[in-house]
Amino acid sequence: MIDANLIPWRLARRWMCVRCGWCCCSYDVPVTFDDERRLRKYGDVFWRGKIGLYLKKIDGKCVFYGDGKCLIYDERPIACRRYPFYLRKEGEELARFENVYVYVDSNCRGVGKGRRIEEILKELFIGVPC
Ligand code: SF4
Ligand code: SF4
Repeated sequence: MIDANLIPWRLARRWMCVRCGWCCCSYDVPVTFDDERRLRKYGDVFWRGKIGLYLKKIDGKCVFYGDGKCLIYDERPIACRRYPFYLRKEGEELARFENVYVYVDSNCRGVGKGRRIEEILKELFIGVPC
């Protein structure tokens, strides 16, 4: 599996999803209890790893990736909603946002494009526990 290449959000500055599908074809997606409850209606779509549940892959792609897009976009797991942002309780000053630290996966094709990341973080993370 490919590792995320995390950089502080202030270095990335801007982000937008360019809908390239790279993340859906590269990472194992962790599934929370709420995600599992929401998605179990789709049947056998999970596998159990050492530290929890993940979405299955077919031919290296997420089981829900088809026709060049996410087939369950409005119901996708929280990890997909937050990607390429990762919250940490500790970190460096360049990553600080309010009382948490936010890193960006520079592998994402949309890093450096689109909206200012500060605006996006306010929508995604204000009031969200780490
Ligand atoms: S890699 Fe980035 S730009 Fe491409 S689909 Fe994933 S989030 Fe969007
Ligand atoms: S659930 Fe959707 S957004 Fe998440 S990895 Fe699968 S196809 Fe991509």
